[in-house]
Amino acid sequence: HGVFFSEVRRPCGVMVLVNPQSGRGQAMALYNGHVQRMLTEADIPHTLFITERQNHARDLVRSADLTQWDALVILSGDGLLFEVVNGLMERQDWEKAIQTPLGILPGGSGNALAASVHHYTRASPVWGEDLLTSCGFLLCKGVVSKLDLISISLSSGARLFSFLSLAWGFVADVDIESEQFRQIGALRFILGTLLRLASLRIYQGKLAFLPAENECGSDSASFSPADSRLPDHLLAPLEQPVPRNWTLVEEQEFVLVLAMFQSHLSEDLLAAPDARADDGLIHLFYVTAGISRVALLQLFRAMQSGTHLDCGCAHLVYRRARALRLEPLSAPGVMTVDGERVEYGPVQAQVHRGAARLISA
Ligand code: ADP
Ligand code: MG
Repeated sequence: HGVFFSEVRRPCGVMVLVNPQSGRGQAMALYNGHVQRMLTEADIPHTLFITERQNHARDLVRSADLTQWDALVILSGDGLLFEVVNGLMERQDWEKAIQTPLGILPGGSGNALAASVHHYTRASPVWGEDLLTSCGFLLCKGVVSKLDLISISLSSGARLFSFLSLAWGFVADVDIESEQFRQIGALRFILGTLLRLASLRIYQGKLAFLPAENECGSDSASFSPADSRLPDHLLAPLEQPVPRNWTLVEEQEFVLVLAMFQSHLSEDLLAAPDARADDGLIHLFYVTAGISRVALLQLFRAMQSGTHLDCGCAHLVYRRARALRLEPLSAPGVMTVDGERVEYGPVQAQVHRGAARLISA
């Protein structure tokens, strides 16, 4: 752990990236009303960058002179941080770049990382502007800790880096279908869930994972040779069978598969209560076909307080893993990484413990 701002102040301090379109479109108002004052009072020099389009933040951090910045702070939803992480990993100097401390301030409709960071302080849950205040306070304290990154390989050969979640089935569908309701903020997920429940469906696919307890020396992936970006030493090529110490899930009919890398799926869904930013774990949940609508709704209601595993629901399975592979068999659909839609098809993922740095408690 360390404090991100240096003893001798450099001229620019913190790069603050704001997506004016995120959430209800109020991120600029949050900046003007709260964030600017907080940073000024804490004597943290910063420069504001307003994103003008999708991938603007990604392009900005890919070409930025990072020696100028003590930290990159995102005032938006999780989608903008996803761009920043992947922009950093695309750089020639990625190994150094990904060590830049990252801060999150909730300004979007999906503020899962902000809610997670607050949860890790063990304070009681807060929402909306109180969550912004809490995250702003952590930012001003400036304590930096490690953040796991999960590499996600798609069938095209593309590779993404995720800090939050991989979803397929019900959760992924809700995530994308509810984009049209971003005007109602975090409520969009509740409305989306109710609509999806009405047209509940089953998703066919094959799921396999490496249980956390089957792998010894889990830190071996933290350091990597300079020529390859965080090599996936736990994975076999997608066209080959998974390694023998993996678990193959017998069921092939699911309602959802959700891999969580932080505690919160959204501001008010505590999907993985025990998760921590640098626990080196994939918290894998799946719900098998046959669950009733009522039982599924009950699970999501319980998830608001993180008690869904206490429901005694036989269709819900939770396992801790280091890697996973998912091969959808049903017709093209939706898959999301950190709430953003990605190419549909077979995917596999592996955790890289503490590969990035996060301003948190
Ligand atoms: P939300 O939680 O509201 O979805 P995000 O931070 O996830 O907020 O942002 C949603 C999407 O908006 C991201 O995919 C991002 O690339 C995109 N984006 C960023 N800046 C802009 C902009 N100026 N106009 C439109 N979209 C943008
Ligand atoms: Mg988003």
